[in-house]
Amino acid sequence: MQMLADKRVLVLGLGISGRSAARFCADRGARVVAADEGLPDVTTPTPGVEFVLGRDFPDAADFDLVVPSPGVPPECYRQNARRVWGDIELAWRALQIPIVAVTGTNGKSTVTRMIEAALFASGFRARAAGNVGKPALDLVGDALDVAILEVSSFQLETTESFRPAVAVVLNVTPDHLDRHGSFEAYREAKARILANQGAGDTALIASDDREARGLARRARGRVVPFSATGPAPGGAWLDGEEAVLDTEAGAPIRIPLETHLPGRHNRENALAALAAAHAAGAAPERAAAGIAAFAGLPHRMEAVGCVAGVSYVNDSKATNPSAALRALDAVETPIIWIAGGRGKGLDFSALAHTARERVRAAVLVGEATEALKNALGESLSTYAAATLEEAVRHAASLAQPGDVVLLAPACASQDQFRDYQERGECFRTAVHALGGTVQ
Ligand code: ADP
Repeated sequence: MQMLADKRVLVLGLGISGRSAARFCADRGARVVAADEGLPDVTTPTPGVEFVLGRDFPDAADFDLVVPSPGVPPECYRQNARRVWGDIELAWRALQIPIVAVTGTNGKSTVTRMIEAALFASGFRARAAGNVGKPALDLVGDALDVAILEVSSFQLETTESFRPAVAVVLNVTPDHLDRHGSFEAYREAKARILANQGAGDTALIASDDREARGLARRARGRVVPFSATGPAPGGAWLDGEEAVLDTEAGAPIRIPLETHLPGRHNRENALAALAAAHAAGAAPERAAAGIAAFAGLPHRMEAVGCVAGVSYVNDSKATNPSAALRALDAVETPIIWIAGGRGKGLDFSALAHTARERVRAAVLVGEATEALKNALGESLSTYAAATLEEAVRHAASLAQPGDVVLLAPACASQDQFRDYQERGECFRTAVHALGGTVQ
């Protein structure tokens, strides 16, 4: 990355990835201004970085390169910036190893970690980064054979030449429309994962998802469809307990595919991970063993306890209606459903049908209470709670032995919490306060 030397770089937003980008650019000789309109706790002085905090962003026109954090909307820099590269673009330029990139509305973190487990079990020096806790730029300099990057629509928006050797598109359903302005703009941002691929690259596309399928037309490399519902010739699919890989010359490979994680969506995720690891060069049996051993992530269908014969499951990360739908679908016993939070202007009506089939009662919380109540209609008993703690207590009083109390909010958390993690922790604490067996 010699091209950064002596360049004037403006880093916008000083969360984890912004700080990592500021350090990265300064280490390579850039003169960095790192700005945040809030007052983040920047206590360690970083050589080569000037911090501008608690004020409007500096004018992008005064810099050679703008590196926006995913949370910073394009209106803040686009008009005046000469060049915009997010941290994923920088990482792609610096890493110089094959990249497996995962996008989609839901399932990105899970699949990214599953691919990491699959490749690791196959003997690769593989590490996941992106939206999964570790910024992508923190991988630069590590001795790796392959990097697996979770890339959100916001991160893809600020790529220019990003070219993953394997791109995975899981699903595209409405989310973040407030930020992108329209579903089309959101889908276009996702499509950027395929924009620079070429011969020799692989695009793994969920053929069960209409929008993802539509994006296959943009692929310039090899398209490998994958399906959890039926054969996907030339691709990968599930057949009972087995996965079928029909991705190379010769007879399709069949191997048992197991995952600890509940729900059909996680079988789909396991399939996507297996196909991606295989596309990256892993032996399918070893990759499947890595996936089978993967224990899952906190706040995604996480069992947090059992009290009086009732199980409590934390899916706080279900922050949009399509994720919540999959969570409801994943539980076979009657559900006491805790939902709500800050609505994102998305349509809840698709939840009503599954909720009627699976849910004994819904306890609604937060700003979206009324909208959810209206969408769910009369056929389901709904209750309102002021706080998540109260919702848990109320759900416990409604539940019968054998039921599952499921937190799958279908909403963002920021009306009452910092983020989905804090919401999930609050749920866990409230469950533990009920007594019983704790996990
Ligand atoms: P992301 O990183 O895209 O937010 P996660 O793996 O963190 O994805 O999962 C977020 C939520 O999405 C989970 O809590 C679950 O409810 C739901 N989910 C996971 N995988 C899928 C999938 N393949 N399709 C739809 N929903 C999913």
